[in-house]
Amino acid sequence: MEYHDSETAKAVAGRVESFMDEVVIPREREALATGEQIPMHEIEDLWEEAKERDLFAPQVPEEYGGQGLDFSDMLPSFEQVGRSLIGAHAIRANAPQEGNMHTLEMVGTEEQKEEYLRPLVQGEMTSAFAMTEPKQGGGSDPKMLQSTAVKDGDEWVINAHKWWTSDGLDADFYLLMARTDLDAHPYEGTSIILVPRDADGVEVVRNVPHLGGHGITERTGGHAEMKFDNVRVPVENTIGEENAGFRIAQMRLGGGRLTHCMRYSGMAERSLDIAKAYLAEREAFGSTLEEKQALRHRIADAETRLHAARTMVRHAARELDRSDARIEVAMAKMFTANVTQDTIDLALQCCGGNGIGKDLPIAHFYEAVRAFRIVDGADEVHRRSIARWAFEDVDETEIENTLQFDEDLRIDDLDD
Ligand SMILES: Cc1cc2nc3c(=O)[nH]c(=O)nc-3n(C[C@H](O)[C@H](O)[C@H](O)COP(=O)(O)OP(=O)(O)OC[C@H]3O[C@@H](n4cnc5c(N)ncnc54)[C@H](O)[C@@H]3O)c2cc1C
Repeated sequence: MEYHDSETAKAVAGRVESFMDEVVIPREREALATGEQIPMHEIEDLWEEAKERDLFAPQVPEEYGGQGLDFSDMLPSFEQVGRSLIGAHAIRANAPQEGNMHTLEMVGTEEQKEEYLRPLVQGEMTSAFAMTEPKQGGGSDPKMLQSTAVKDGDEWVINAHKWWTSDGLDADFYLLMARTDLDAHPYEGTSIILVPRDADGVEVVRNVPHLGGHGITERTGGHAEMKFDNVRVPVENTIGEENAGFRIAQMRLGGGRLTHCMRYSGMAERSLDIAKAYLAEREAFGSTLEEKQALRHRIADAETRLHAARTMVRHAARELDRSDARIEVAMAKMFTANVTQDTIDLALQCCGGNGIGKDLPIAHFYEAVRAFRIVDGADEVHRRSIARWAFEDVDETEIENTLQFDEDLRIDDLDD
């Protein structure tokens, strides 16, 4: 499918595609065949090769060691890396690192960029974003945030209980959301604060047991439950303006939602490619499975919906490069999450027992994709935003002007 991406986008994506086909996917196949986990030093070797091939960290400005691409231009590269379980890791474009890099780059001070962004890009540091809380804390409704940071002289004193902090087990620092003005509405009184892992009072409670996530890399980072007990950090650790945490999180999540869509679209596309190859070879009931109309139609539907999702994501990425594109991103995220889940499920079904087996990556993709309908806003939360937008400018006179009620019209007449 030709999407008329820019020449820059195509050039980088072409290099990424070669890297995936020549290096990353063969390494992934080996790991799947043996069931081994790829050690971290091999991922670091992939970073070096990605740098040599001029495709490392497409989302990061060149001055920090990346390719300096905007959302539209990074998109085809991110779709490419989504094709493998280790693709995004191999070029340092995996979540949540990539979103945290974006946040630091957008609103970090020069000192924060030198101390944290530069080593983060180079893989010398790992980070995590800590917003969600257990019990009656912030989740789908982030206004319910319970974590607090209170100023004491030139320090924040932070008390927080977080969970689902992705990569939290390994993180060297956390971007933590806490209420910093309890008298203000949470939208106006919440900040993002950088908390180093080694600060007193930071406790990694556990890796929350979850579906999937037993990736093929040695270091998964997990999804941590965390406690922050009277943790003191300097006020200079505020990320962006004080009390602007919601605005900054919105900016982070807008991009993060779309980059997830890009990677998951790549995952769905590879699943379909594997399924089609299987159907073309496998014979049953007197012909190849490829010839069965029941399957052909389902593949046709999957191709159509995936194309629609990729087109929506491209549109949303273009808009996000110009504005906050809140509704475009919500629509693209909700639609893509469902389409990629359905596509991967179909591909798994087409491959029969091989779909369930872990010689192929599809079973891993299947486990991974389910969370996408919940993380970065559950389907229902996006529908809520889209519905609010849809009803915002309703002209109530429209219905009266359009429907000319005929007082004498009987219900039976409507059957015509
Ligand atoms: C794998 C994974 C990784 C994650 N990584 C991170 C991370 O790095 N950092 C972080 O801060 N958080 C992370 N999260 C947390 C994630 O953002 C939350 O799980 C998500 O926002 C939903 O919040 P909740 O779990 O509290 O669900 P709840 O808020 O309890 O909602 C439960 C369900 O209710 C439904 N629902 C919610 N609102 C409405 C509504 N208005 N109308 C109808 N139905 C509704 C939805 O179906 C939703 O799934 C991660 C979660 C997972 C599973």
